[in-house]
Amino acid sequence: MVDATPAIAIVGAGIAGLTAAATLRRIGLKVDIYEQAPAFAWIGAGLQLNPNAMKVMRGLGLEAHIRSVGFAPEVGYNREWNTGEITYLHPMGAKIEQRFGAPDISLHRAELHAALLLINPAEIIHLGKKLAGLDQVGSGVRLTFTDGTWADADAVVGADGVHSTVLEILFGSGEPRFTGQVAYRATYRSQLLGTEIDDRVKWWGPGRHIVTYKVNPRRDEVYFIASTPEPDFKIESWSARGDLEQMRAAFTGFHPQARVILDACPEVGKWALVERDPLVRWSKGRIVLIGDACHPMLPYMAQGGSAAMEDAVVLARCLEGTDLDGFSDAFRRFEQNRKDRTSRIQLGARKNTWMRTAPDMTWLYDYDAWTVPLD
Ligand SMILES: Cc1cc2nc3c(=O)[nH]c(=O)nc-3n(C[C@H](O)[C@H](O)[C@H](O)COP(=O)(O)OP(=O)(O)OC[C@H]3O[C@@H](n4cnc5c(N)ncnc54)[C@H](O)[C@@H]3O)c2cc1C
Repeated sequence: MVDATPAIAIVGAGIAGLTAAATLRRIGLKVDIYEQAPAFAWIGAGLQLNPNAMKVMRGLGLEAHIRSVGFAPEVGYNREWNTGEITYLHPMGAKIEQRFGAPDISLHRAELHAALLLINPAEIIHLGKKLAGLDQVGSGVRLTFTDGTWADADAVVGADGVHSTVLEILFGSGEPRFTGQVAYRATYRSQLLGTEIDDRVKWWGPGRHIVTYKVNPRRDEVYFIASTPEPDFKIESWSARGDLEQMRAAFTGFHPQARVILDACPEVGKWALVERDPLVRWSKGRIVLIGDACHPMLPYMAQGGSAAMEDAVVLARCLEGTDLDGFSDAFRRFEQNRKDRTSRIQLGARKNTWMRTAPDMTWLYDYDAWTVPLD
């Protein structure tokens, strides 16, 4: 007997792809994920999961796990870069949880990735499969990979990140825009600091800033991202190393409590920051984009991964109960329900003013992808 269950191919096993695999399997679809990397690495960066993201985690059954591996600060400081004067004290801990119905957790990005792997069977993830082409075959789609192999699916979800091949194949949108800003990033043992620092803080300087937070419940590992203009640097790679002295020089004049974070750092990664304007379309026929593939954003609102996970939930809600003939309409419905929100975050992050003074957080953190009414 022929299996009539729609078969979905997801391109990319990052945050968006793994979350979508879980939500789509949950509504009864057959899912395979194709990931270019030959293996998953413990990539060194921190991530914030604000209440909207933690609601996604709750629905996936991962809330307790994330709480156990991450850290929930009591407050988030926003400080002037040189004087240390507080411009906004962001209430977190129990206060943010009460207000928005879910906690705000900082953690290692790799912990989030590992958690999402826990809820997907290993056999659906095909590593070392770099997508090269997509072709319509009958009513389905054939995926071809750079190793010469191929796979067929009824529909494709492009979750292949900021340099999405799926986006390029669908719409020929070209490369994202370099902003001329770089992010120096590191996580390291906080005992190297030799002093106590704020559990979460952003130091706001002119054209430059430093964000720091602890990433585990023991508070013994610290993460920072220090952003500064460097228009000639155009490498985006987890393995690109930064020059410590060049980084420290860029933050001359910052408050000693900010500089100590850079001074103690044993080695640092360096990442060119890219973004796009909101796209007109995210889907064509039986192919749809999610996550950074369709709304890459600057990290200044800490929402890229969270928005990717929200996409995965809303996509599954739009597809639930739909047969294959309805997929293309469901994909349009998905993008219509998500685009206003992700565009608002993309454009807001571009301004890099979020939390400098008290923001309106309700629209962002109140959102629950599992229950938000869909048009
Ligand atoms: C400095 C910085 C700080 C950030 N901080 C936060 C934060 O605090 N909170 C937050 O929510 N977000 C944050 N983000 C954003 C977040 O990391 C991204 O938005 C998120 O990783 C996007 O997930 P994704 O799955 O769409 O893309 P990715 O995580 O990039 O995953 C894409 C996957 O697709 C694979 N792939 C790519 N091309 C192909 C191909 N051709 N074939 C097969 N596989 C392919 C890649 O190998 C990768 O595994 C930050 C980003 C940066 C740069």
